Amino acid sequence: MTVHNVSNIVIVGGGTAGWMTAASLSKHFRKTKVAITVVESSAIGTVGVGEATIPTLRRFYAELGLDDMAVMKATQATCKLGIQFQDWYKQGHSFIHPFGLFGQKANGIDFHHYWLHLKSLGDTSALADYSLGVNLAKNNKFIEPSVNPPSELSVYDWALHFDAGLFAKLMREYAESHGVTCIDAKIDGVNCGEEGIDSLVLDDGRVINGDLFIDCSGFKGLLIEQALHTGYHDWSEWLQCDSAVAVQSTRAGSAPSYTVTRAHQAGWQWRIPLQHRAGNGHVFCSRYISEDEAIATLKSNITDELLHEPRRFKFTPGRRKLAWNKNCIAVGLASGFLEPLESTSIALIETAIEKIRRVFQRPWYTAAAVDNFNDLTAQEYERVRDFIILHYKLNQREDGELWRYCREMELPEMLRKKVAAFRSQGDLIRYPIEMFGGPSWVAIYDGFQYLPEQYDQRVTKMNPEYLQKALGEMRQSVASAVASVQSHDDFIAQNCAAAAP
Ligand SMILES: Cc1cc2nc3c(=O)[nH]c(=O)nc-3n(C[C@H](O)[C@H](O)[C@H](O)COP(=O)(O)OP(=O)(O)OC[C@H]3O[C@@H](n4cnc5c(N)ncnc54)[C@H](O)[C@@H]3O)c2cc1C
Repeated sequence: MTVHNVSNIVIVGGGTAGWMTAASLSKHFRKTKVAITVVESSAIGTVGVGEATIPTLRRFYAELGLDDMAVMKATQATCKLGIQFQDWYKQGHSFIHPFGLFGQKANGIDFHHYWLHLKSLGDTSALADYSLGVNLAKNNKFIEPSVNPPSELSVYDWALHFDAGLFAKLMREYAESHGVTCIDAKIDGVNCGEEGIDSLVLDDGRVINGDLFIDCSGFKGLLIEQALHTGYHDWSEWLQCDSAVAVQSTRAGSAPSYTVTRAHQAGWQWRIPLQHRAGNGHVFCSRYISEDEAIATLKSNITDELLHEPRRFKFTPGRRKLAWNKNCIAVGLASGFLEPLESTSIALIETAIEKIRRVFQRPWYTAAAVDNFNDLTAQEYERVRDFIILHYKLNQREDGELWRYCREMELPEMLRKKVAAFRSQGDLIRYPIEMFGGPSWVAIYDGFQYLPEQYDQRVTKMNPEYLQKALGEMRQSVASAVASVQSHDDFIAQNCAAAAP
C-alpha cells in the first residue's frame, strides 16, 4: 500500500468554498504539523452569489464553535424554514418545501399513508396543515425548534439566508486566527508532474509548492480541469437551465422566513431576503430565451429598487468525473454545479470537507481513500441531481417548451425507480447518502399533486373516527403552536439584528 504523506496543503481560491475548507481544516489539523496556505486573487474576485443555505450549514459552523446568532449578526442573515415554490406545478399554484416533518408516523407507517386514507374518506385537509415548519413560514413567524421536541409534530429545522461575502470573511478570520496563511496573487501557471500538481506560479514570479492541492478556483477548475484535464459529466439532458442573471435589491416590508422561487416560461426566479436587502436572480435555459429577455423578466418581477446592474452567469450542470484526481481535490464550483433551486452548492462544499476530514484522520492518504472519496462524491451529486430533476419532471405548466420537454424526458434510472415506487404505493426509497430525506420527497410529490395510486393498507385497519379525531388534533396542535410564536422580524430584532451596511 502506497501512502502519500501530506504536510503542506495549498488551497486555490478564496470564495465560500476556499475559506470554508481552510477554516475547517485549520481546526482539523491544529495538533499536527500540516501547513495550510490559501492563494486567492482579489483582482479576479469571487462568484458573489450563493446566499440561501440548508440546515447542514449550521452544523458546519457549530463544529467550529460558532454560534447561530453570532453568525446571523455577522452575515446580516435571516432565518429560512424552507422554500416556497410558486407557479411550478401550474401557474397560480404554490407550496412550501419545509425543513421538517409532516404529521406523526404511527405503528412504523409513514404519516402520509394515514393522510391519504383520511383523504379517501372525504377529508379535505392538506398535508401542509400537519407541518409546523410550513405553517410558521406561511405566517412569517420564527422560533428556534425545541431541542427536545415533545412529538414528531414539533420537529422542524432551519437554515440561513446570508451575505455570502460576509460569511467567507467570517471563515477567513477563523482560518487566519488558526494559522492559515493567505497569499493574494493571481496564479499564472501550474506545474504538473507524475503525482499531479507540483507547484503554482504566481504573477509576481513566486513559486508555491505543496503536496496536496485543493482546487476551490470556481467554475474554471484551474487545477482539476485546466491543469489535470479530469473531464466532466454533463447533465444538460435532464437539467436544461444553463444561465443565470442576478441582482441585489432593497427589501421593503417584513422578511419572509423562507426563500421564494417562482417558475417562469424558460426557467425560474429566486428571492432571498437578507436583513437589509434581498438577493434576486433568474435561472434560465438559453435555448428558449436570450439573456436580455431573462433580465427583462427578472426586473419586471422585482418591485424594489435595484442596487446595481444584473450580473450574468453561464454554467454546465454536472460534476467532474473525479472530485479527487492525483494530488488534487476539487471543492465548490470547481467540482461541479447544480442549479441553486434547493440551495445545495454550499451543502456540497460541506460534505466534501467532511469527507476530506475523514480521510485525514492521520496526515496521509492512500489510493483506496481516494477511490472511496470519489464514489461518495458521485453518489452525493447524483442524488441531489435527481431531487432537482423531480421538480421539473412533475410540472403541469402549459407555457413554454422547457416545461413540455421536462414533463416528457426520460429520467435517470434510480430516480425512475424512486418515482415509480412512490406512485404505485407511496413507498419512499431511501439511500444512505442523501441530502434530502423522505419528508422532502413527500413535500415535492405533494406540492406537485403527484399522489400515490395505493397506500399502505394497514392504515385502513384504524377506526375512521379515531383517525379523523387524531389527525384533527394534530392540525389543531400545529395551529395553536403557530399562534403562540413571534414574527420573524421580531425574532431577528431581538436576537441578531445587524447594523445596516
Ligand atoms: C447564479 C448562482 C446562484 C447561486 N445560488 C446559490 C445558493 O443560493 N445557495 C448555494 O448554496 N449556492 C449557490 N450558488 C453556488 C455558490 O455561489 C457557490 O457554491 C459558492 O459561492 C462557492 O463558490 P466557490 O468558492 O467554489 O467559487 P468562487 O466564489 O468563484 O471563488 C473562486 C476563487 O478562486 C480564485 N481564483 C480563480 N482563479 C484564480 C487564479 N488564476 N489565481 C488566483 N485565484 C484564483 C478567485 O479569486 C476566488 O477567490 C449559486 C451559484 C450561482 C452561479
